[in-house]
Amino acid sequence: MFKTIIIGAGPSGLSAGIFLARDKIPVLIIEKFAVGGNMLLTEKIENYPGFPNGITGYELAKNMEEQFLKFGGKIKEGDVNGIELKDNKKIVKIKNGEILECDVLIIATGSSRKKLGVKGEEEFTGKGVSYCAICDGPFYKEKEVAVVGGGDSALEEAIHLTKFAKTVYLIHRRDNFRAKKYLQDEVMKNEKIKILFSKTIKEIKGKETVEKIVVEDLKQNKIEELNIRGIFISVGFKPNTDFLSIDIKKDEEGFIIVNEKMETNIPGIFACGDVIKKQLYQVITACSEGIIAGYFAEKYLDSIF
Ligand code: NAP
Repeated sequence: MFKTIIIGAGPSGLSAGIFLARDKIPVLIIEKFAVGGNMLLTEKIENYPGFPNGITGYELAKNMEEQFLKFGGKIKEGDVNGIELKDNKKIVKIKNGEILECDVLIIATGSSRKKLGVKGEEEFTGKGVSYCAICDGPFYKEKEVAVVGGGDSALEEAIHLTKFAKTVYLIHRRDNFRAKKYLQDEVMKNEKIKILFSKTIKEIKGKETVEKIVVEDLKQNKIEELNIRGIFISVGFKPNTDFLSIDIKKDEEGFIIVNEKMETNIPGIFACGDVIKKQLYQVITACSEGIIAGYFAEKYLDSIF
C-alpha cells in the first residue's frame, strides 16, 4: 500500500516523488515508457539552474531518478487505463489487470506530440515520418529532411538535425515563428537550414519509405513536391489525459485545471507538469509544480490521518 501514487516519471512526477520520499512518505511512480518523459526529447537543457554548461535531457532524467530512488521511492512500469474513487481512496487500474490503491494521487502524465493529420503520415510513421529528432536524427546522415512547425521544438529539432542531414527544410504555415528569439537567430544563420514560410504539407509520399512531400504555398496558391527522406513533425503537444475515467476539470484541449496548490477539483488528486493548463511549459516549471504538488499532497495526508 502506497500512500501516494504518481502517474508519470517526467520532471514533474520525479520532483513530486523526491519531495515526498525525502519526507519518508511511501510513494510509487507508475511510468508507461521511459523515466524522464519529454526531457528525453531534448538534447541539451541550457536554462536549468545549476548547470552553467547545460545538461542533456537524458542525464538530468537519470540524476532525478537516482535522487528519487535514493530517498526510498519506487518506480513501476505500467500503463494506467482508469482511475476510480472509493470513499477517500483512489483506485488506480493498470492495463495488465493490476489494481492499486492510494490516499493521494498525483497526475504527472505530461503531453505527447500532435499529429499533422495529412495523407501518408500514419502509413510512413517509423519509415521516414518521425516525432523525435533526438531519437531518429542519426538515420539521416547526408540526407534531405524537413521539419514542420514554427515553435521552440521545431526550431530546436531543425538545429539538431543539421548535425546529420545535408539540408533541413524548416516548413512553417505562417511567415513568422513563435519560437524564442535566440532560436530564430540560430536557424537564420545556419546555412544547412532552408526556411520555407507560409507553406503547409498536403501529403507525404513514398514507396517503402518517405520519398517526397507535397507542399502548398499559401501566398502563391501553388503546389510543389519536395524530395526528402525524412519528415519531423513538431506542431505542438496534446495532454495525456485520455485515460482519465473520472470527472476531473479540464480545458477544451484536455489540459487539467489546477489551482496554485496543484489541486484538481477532486480532493486528494493533484496534477503537475505539462499535463496542466498553464502559461509556460519548461523542465524547470514542471519541477517546480512537482515540488508544490508534493508539498500540498503531504499536507492533504496530514489532514486525513
Ligand atoms: P508550440 O509552441 O505549440 O508550437 C507549435 C507550432 O506548430 C506552431 O508554430 C504552430 O503554428 C505549428 N502548428 C500547429 N498545428 C499545425 C498544423 N496543423 N500544421 C502546421 N503547423 C502547425 O509547440 P512546441 O514548439 O512543441 O512547444 C510546446 C511548449 O514547450 C511551448 O510552450 C514551448 O515554449 C515549450 N518548449 C520550450 C523549449 C525551450 O525553451 N528551449 C523547447 C521546446 C519546447 P502557429 O505558430 O501558426 O500556431
